[in-house]
Amino acid sequence: MQEHILQIVYLIASITFIVGLKFLGNPATARRGNLIAAFGMGMAIFGTIFLFTTKEGNHLGNLGFIFVALIIGTIIGWMVAKKVKMTAMPEMVSLFNGMGGACAMLISVIEFQHLAHMGNSSLAPENITGHMLAIMLGLIIGSVSFAGSMVAWGKLSGNVKDKSFGKQQFINIGLLLVILVLGYMVVFGGSANAVTLFYFVLALSLLYGVLFVLPIGGADMPVVISLLNSFTGVAAACGGFLYDNKVMMVGGILVGSAGTLLTIVMCKAMNRSLINVLIGNFGGGSTNAAATSENFAGSVKEINASDAAILMRYAKKVIIVPGYGLAVAQAQHVVHDLELLLEAEGVEVKYAIHPVAGRMPGHMNVLLAESNVSYDKLVEMDEINPEFKSTDVVLVVGANDVVNPAAKSDPNSPIFGMPILEVEEATNVIVNKRSMKAGYAGIENELFYKPKTSMLFGDAKKALTQLVAEIKALG
Ligand code: NDP
Repeated sequence: MQEHILQIVYLIASITFIVGLKFLGNPATARRGNLIAAFGMGMAIFGTIFLFTTKEGNHLGNLGFIFVALIIGTIIGWMVAKKVKMTAMPEMVSLFNGMGGACAMLISVIEFQHLAHMGNSSLAPENITGHMLAIMLGLIIGSVSFAGSMVAWGKLSGNVKDKSFGKQQFINIGLLLVILVLGYMVVFGGSANAVTLFYFVLALSLLYGVLFVLPIGGADMPVVISLLNSFTGVAAACGGFLYDNKVMMVGGILVGSAGTLLTIVMCKAMNRSLINVLIGNFGGGSTNAAATSENFAGSVKEINASDAAILMRYAKKVIIVPGYGLAVAQAQHVVHDLELLLEAEGVEVKYAIHPVAGRMPGHMNVLLAESNVSYDKLVEMDEINPEFKSTDVVLVVGANDVVNPAAKSDPNSPIFGMPILEVEEATNVIVNKRSMKAGYAGIENELFYKPKTSMLFGDAKKALTQLVAEIKALG
């Protein structure tokens, strides 16, 4: 009876995941979607704790340990999420993703130990291979996701630098092949050394996770982050197969497929093929020969807030390009004020959203949603690019790589081939940032030297506040 109730709980939880994911697709309903899915996850966890029974009719033991772990985890997760700054959100997401991978890895280790030390009495022989396969896949994918996410976390927080060394791709491919062969031997080989090989696979998978993410630089991290996300989902789904736990399977498959779709979208945004991502073949390395400011033809022209205000106030159409610096400065509210003010003066205002702007997928959408910018004002790159030609003023706020024309013109640039926001097509470009420093990809930007471009230096929040005041003063 309890088992049947548990299956119904799992079914309801699975439905909440699907509904939650659907709601997450729109910033207006995303918060609700998150709560619905979290409620479902709570149901699944407590359902398992209180209703699960083994074939022999036993309930879960060690409830004390389980609850202590749950309480500690909840407190840490709650505090970290409450305290995290918006700009550190991507690192936190990477860290949490890595924890998911680590869980899948540990499940595989524990279940392998069961099989190895307690005999296979609980499984029919024909099921052992399937069981071992799920264990091995969970182990490999979970460890790669864990180690890779830790490196990604380090990179996003600026503590780990891109590092590539000669023949990196070949080493990565070789390592992956060795892992697969050893994994095959453990699952199908009936080897006497299965236990040793198993731990060897674990160690090599962790190493692969590190080597796979370490060389990836330039501007290609978004692809890797979403790929690691999908890995964690697939690894969790393996745990679902292992325990024949439907809700774990559904949750894992949803994360895996959503992550895969996001990876495809990110690959498209970066103009990279997935195969390049898988062998860690891009980014970082080619910066040396990329053009530097000495090779740029023009010179840097500064503009002050009052001149920028005049340009924008008397424009017909203004496009705002938000980037990572907007998040750093927490200028999302003041940029919304600027938009409303200009619109009140009869100026048409839109936001151009690059798919990898900021430091996590959808970063700019989340940021601008926070200040209640209307969603129909956020226009995706493909749609907005043809509009720049007919735009009087583009205001770039804390964006750099996503408007770097080297992506189109400099084959030596690490971002060459990445589609960008073609802001230089507009009549005037105003770029707000604090200095001439590079963005995430670490490369110079010729846009800042173009005749149409004027630099409005300063912290985005301060500069935009001043701009708003100047526009108001114009009456
Ligand atoms: P960039 O990182 O290219 O540039 C941001 C710019 O903001 C910097 O040049 C900086 O210049 C400026 N800035 C920083 N703080 C402030 C501030 N307080 N006020 C004003 N300006 C500020 O950002 P983009 O959004 O253009 O591009 C995102 C990059 O991050 C891409 O390369 C992308 O691939 C990468 N990335 C994206 C991820 C994603 O999922 N979206 C994940 C990981 C990486 P200065 O210091 O002079 O002020």
